[in-house]
Amino acid sequence: MNWTTKKQQAFQQDFLNWYQQNQRDLPWRHFHDPYHIWLSEIMLQQTQVHTVIPYYQRFLKAFPTIADLAATDEATLFKAWEGLGYYSRARNLQRAAQQICTDYQGVWPQTAAELEKLAGIGPYTAAAIASIAFDAPEPAVDGNAYRVFARLLQIKADVAQPKTRGIFAAAIRPLLPAQGSGDFNQATMDLGATICTPKDPACLLCPVQQYCQAYQTGTQLDYPVKTKKPKPKPVHLAALVIGDPQQWLMQQRPGQGLLANLWTYPLVSAADLQSDENDKLPADWSALLTQYVAQTYQLDLNITPVKGRAVTHTFTHLKWTIDLYQAKLPAKTDLAFFPGQLVAAADYDQLAVPTVQKKLQQRFLKDSK
Ligand code: SF4
Repeated sequence: MNWTTKKQQAFQQDFLNWYQQNQRDLPWRHFHDPYHIWLSEIMLQQTQVHTVIPYYQRFLKAFPTIADLAATDEATLFKAWEGLGYYSRARNLQRAAQQICTDYQGVWPQTAAELEKLAGIGPYTAAAIASIAFDAPEPAVDGNAYRVFARLLQIKADVAQPKTRGIFAAAIRPLLPAQGSGDFNQATMDLGATICTPKDPACLLCPVQQYCQAYQTGTQLDYPVKTKKPKPKPVHLAALVIGDPQQWLMQQRPGQGLLANLWTYPLVSAADLQSDENDKLPADWSALLTQYVAQTYQLDLNITPVKGRAVTHTFTHLKWTIDLYQAKLPAKTDLAFFPGQLVAAADYDQLAVPTVQKKLQQRFLKDSK
């Protein structure tokens, strides 16, 4: 940081004045309560602000305090989280609530270092909670901070590298005000979300334009520097809708791994049907699936494709493409070998289902008419 102290102070002043006058009115900003800040930050990791608000309000209604969250059962937790995906984050929220209730006697730790000991809380969330709830002088370094400060200070470090967080934290730290670092961090979030946007920064409206090195050199879009992530690996699957409109088969996923413990239609991957990975499958898997369910579930079914487009769903490292197939389930079928259960339509809403299952059900209801 080669700015003079005077320049640093002028920057702080301009930045915080702008925030005081222009901050977004968000429900979690109405209190400086760590539970509210934490919940909003975890939800915002995966979803846009306007989408998060109703989920945030619904979750707080279900669990008004961390003690309520700590004490709930997994099914109720997942129901309150439903629609947000990434269920491991909901599980971590509960684990951290339990840690606060047991290890900290219900009193939130106030430093970023202590907060990072809680489940699911990384350096960014810890700094956001510590600064906003407890006024700790911690820079909250997320995508917005990378973009804003990479441009302001022309920092060339690759933001795809984990170690770069430390470079940005060290660059931002001298700029934090002695008091009000929470507002400073929230000003960064708001500037990044509304003005210093990724593709089209509105530099003419920017309250800190006069300090911005990228603006002065016309290089805004060269920052932040980021190497490309590998593309998610494609995986081809079939979803089996077996039953009738009153009841159908559902499977709960294993307790570990992707979509752990959530319920979906039975899913069969291309790899399950191939004798080796070079084996080319036909476009229509009906015959192979009929054979597969006969061998694996001991079910004698007539499986046919559901006409219509495949459902796609992308996780961080995988891209699922799922074709839908259907079959009637004869009355009194023995399900002893099926690793799941027959679910009545009336009970379906009680199951915790991931977003991809919702997409599959919507597509099935539309395309099977
Ligand atoms: Fe971002 Fe432009 Fe402001 Fe620089 S001047 S911080 S590039 S909006």
